[in-house]
Formats: sequence, C-alpha cells, structure tokens
Amino acid sequence: MDDIYGEYGGYFYVPMTQAFSLAIPVTIGCSWNKCLYCDLNHDNKFRKLALEEIKSHILRLKELNASRRSPVEKVVLAGGNPFCLDTPSLINIIKLVKEHFPEVKNISSFARADDVLRKSDDELLELKSNSMGELSLGIESGNDEILAFHNKGVTVEENNKAMAKLEELNIGYSTYIMLGLGGKTWSKKSATDTGKMLSNFNPQVITLVSLVLFKDAKLIEKVKTREFIKLKPLEYILEERLLLENLNMRNTIFNGTHKTNTLILKGKLPEHKELLLKRIDEFLESNDDRDLRDFEKHKWRRWSIE
Ligand code: SF4
Repeated sequence: MDDIYGEYGGYFYVPMTQAFSLAIPVTIGCSWNKCLYCDLNHDNKFRKLALEEIKSHILRLKELNASRRSPVEKVVLAGGNPFCLDTPSLINIIKLVKEHFPEVKNISSFARADDVLRKSDDELLELKSNSMGELSLGIESGNDEILAFHNKGVTVEENNKAMAKLEELNIGYSTYIMLGLGGKTWSKKSATDTGKMLSNFNPQVITLVSLVLFKDAKLIEKVKTREFIKLKPLEYILEERLLLENLNMRNTIFNGTHKTNTLILKGKLPEHKELLLKRIDEFLESNDDRDLRDFEKHKWRRWSIE
C-alpha cells in the first residue's frame, strides 16, 4: 500500500469512527499544523493532492477492492483536515469517488471547526446531499485557556458554533476529546468544561484519546520548562471520570477504546453512564500508578506503529 499511503510516513491515521471505511488520500498533513501537542503530520508540509493524483489512487484502490464480497459503502477522505478544501474541490472529489465506487453511502473526513464555519449553509447542504457526513471534529477540550495554550487556533465558541451549525443542518458528526490536554493545572477544569459543553449538543460519538507526548512535538519544550505538567496515569482516569460525570447526553456513543487510553471503555449515553462510572471506580480501586507505568512507556511506541 506504500504507493497509496506512503507519503504520509509513519503516522497514517483516519478518524476512529471510520476505521472500516475505505481511505482515499486527498490532503497530506494539516492546513493548521500548529497545535503544540501534535506531531501527527511530522515533517509533512500541507499539500492538496491534484485531482489526477486522487484519481490514480482511486483507480488503484478499486483494483485492490475488486474481489471484495460487499461493495464499498463508506469512504473517508484521508489527511489531517481534508474538509479545509473548498466546496467545489470537495464536490469534484466526491464525483470521482462515486464514479468508481457507485454504492458509496457516506463520505467522511477529519474537520476543524473553522473548516466547517468557512462554508455557507448552502455549501454544507450541497456536501450533505452528495453523501458527506459523519465528520470528525477535533474539539479536544471545552476550555479556552487550554485551547489557547496549545495553540489550537479555534476557540470554544467556534467549536460550539460548528457543532450547532452541523446539527441545525442535520449533518452527522463525532468529536475527538483529549484527556490530559490541560495537564495538572487544568485537568479538572477541562473535564467539567468539556462535559458541560458537549451536553449542549448531540454528537454521534465522543471519541476519547489521551495526550501522548510526541518526541518532536513543541509541547516537549513546555514540559522541560515545567509550564506543562503531564498527568500521571491514574490522573487521566480521574479526569475521564469527572468528564463522564458532567456528560448529560441524549443519544451518544462514549468511545474510550482508543489505544492511547489506559482504560478501555465504551458505552451508550445516557443508558450506560452509571455502568461506565462503576467500571472506572473498579479500575481506580484495583490499580495504582506503578501498575500502569509499563503501559505509559509503550504508548509512544504504539502510536508510532499506527
Ligand atoms: S488541527 Fe489536528 S492535525 Fe492539525 S495540528 Fe492540530 S491536532 Fe494536529
């Protein structure tokens, strides 16, 4: 698959909700690429693939999928935030996808709030009518100080506006939330603010990931100067508990099964909230930081082979 995904280097990734979707390269890297904690795009400079390049990947993927028993029904546009592309470009890509995979029912991608807000309602509706949905928004935290510290480039208000807009237009989306992003200073604040913020909305899935210190991320400098103090393993779980306590969702999957998380947890909210809290309490009772040290050591290695 190097001929298709090789340019992404060691960190090819798609939204967790799209793990079984066919990934079609559309952009390389992220158009923002300034978040302190992120080194997912490594040395990749942001680049939009030309339509001809995308077409050649689609043709190759068509060839590779020719013997599949079931048709390709779900596609994810790959890259840090392919939704930053303008609407005509996205429509051209969708047309190409549908020409070669006519049974596609949903086309998804990672998106930043500003990518959503840059598009008019009419554009978003046009994309929706062309099968774009299940967007994956990197919300990360409901606290502005944390977003600003990490140079996220969007505010809580913008994240709120993007989610409100998608819901108003009935476009499905999931959110990424990052445990530990506030470090020791803002751990509790992040959990309560994020829980309260998400409770105003109705994402299909809340995908929980845990902060990993990437060795080349700018955050490392802040760790060295003690401007950022990373949580200990059990503190991630305490933050998760507080977040869950503050979540009052109507119909959302709580997915904490990402490999960066110490405790693997998944359930439906609100139905499973008490059960999930009980699982967390049991975990906290039977583990201490020493037990979890090995897991922490391997987080980085596990990421690098994703
Ligand atoms: S927006 Fe996402 S992909 Fe881009 S730099 Fe920030 S965390 Fe990384």
